Amino acid sequence: MTKLIGLIDMDHNHNKGTNIYGTPYFYPNLALMKISAYYKKKGYKVEWYTPIKKYYNDYHKIFVSKVFTRKTPMDSYLTKDMIIGGTGYDLSTKLPDKIEHIYPDYDLYGIDYAMGFITRGCIRSCDFCIVQNKEGMIHKHADFEEFWNDQKHIRFLDNNFLSYKNHIDELKKIIDINKRIDFYHGLDIRLINNVNASLLRKIQLWSGKRYTFAFDDIKSKLVIEKKLKILNDNGIKNSEINFFVLIGFNSTLKEDLIRINLLRDNKIRVYVMPYNKTIQHQEQYQKDLLKWVNYKPFYWKMDFETFLKKKKRIIKKEKKDTMLNKFLK
Ligand code: SF4
Repeated sequence: MTKLIGLIDMDHNHNKGTNIYGTPYFYPNLALMKISAYYKKKGYKVEWYTPIKKYYNDYHKIFVSKVFTRKTPMDSYLTKDMIIGGTGYDLSTKLPDKIEHIYPDYDLYGIDYAMGFITRGCIRSCDFCIVQNKEGMIHKHADFEEFWNDQKHIRFLDNNFLSYKNHIDELKKIIDINKRIDFYHGLDIRLINNVNASLLRKIQLWSGKRYTFAFDDIKSKLVIEKKLKILNDNGIKNSEINFFVLIGFNSTLKEDLIRINLLRDNKIRVYVMPYNKTIQHQEQYQKDLLKWVNYKPFYWKMDFETFLKKKKRIIKKEKKDTMLNKFLK
């Protein structure tokens, strides 16, 4: 009889297409796709876990993976005989090389694009980030041909691709295959120079995607202004750029506004990323910043001060809860 492997993606509600909190969500778990590929190749049947099959002892092995650290109600279902891993549980568990470097089973999530890492690690160790702790210094991980088989779209998951010493050669290879590319975790703007900017200009991004960078620390202000100019000089317009701005870690509201307004004045799209993702733990000013910036009609039309006044007026005027009223509160 064919042996059965059960998989659990702790971040994902497969039936509803949402994360476990009900937010529309789709972040295929790469480790599970590799485990699936490995066992299918060995002749096993691989499927999403169901408790009833565990009850009848049908599973040869059950693998559990979790990328995000927040608790989920499903955590309590874990049993000792399950094999668990992922950043959501600990930073040290690694797949054996024979699984880590296999071509992923994209059918597990039904995706028609390729995804994976050319590099792992990072040259920096920002206080709010686990990448260096988990993956070490930047190093080559794989040729992209390991996880790409002529799909039209490739999603690179590298955490600091530009810090890899041979990134220029990798960029040239990416340009040569002429596919649509997404650097999902963004690029480090501090490492932009004329050579890599001119190559980045030549890659084709996924439709609707932008060159994404981060402005996490006010101390990078001068560098970012300088690097934006290099991007512009090489033909990358501000309308093609996107920035993540971290708030609520060690910055003040004043510093947050300097960072956001610098980008806004340059007509650059921003997404505010609160360090603490749980709404109950965010201070009111962080919730307000998030609503002003991430809800684009407000961000483009008015500054933060005007937004706060408008919010007050709307909440006062609309006695009963409308959608907008609820959103602003
Ligand atoms: S540069 Fe990015 S990946 Fe590297 S440590 Fe800082 S936040 Fe993490």
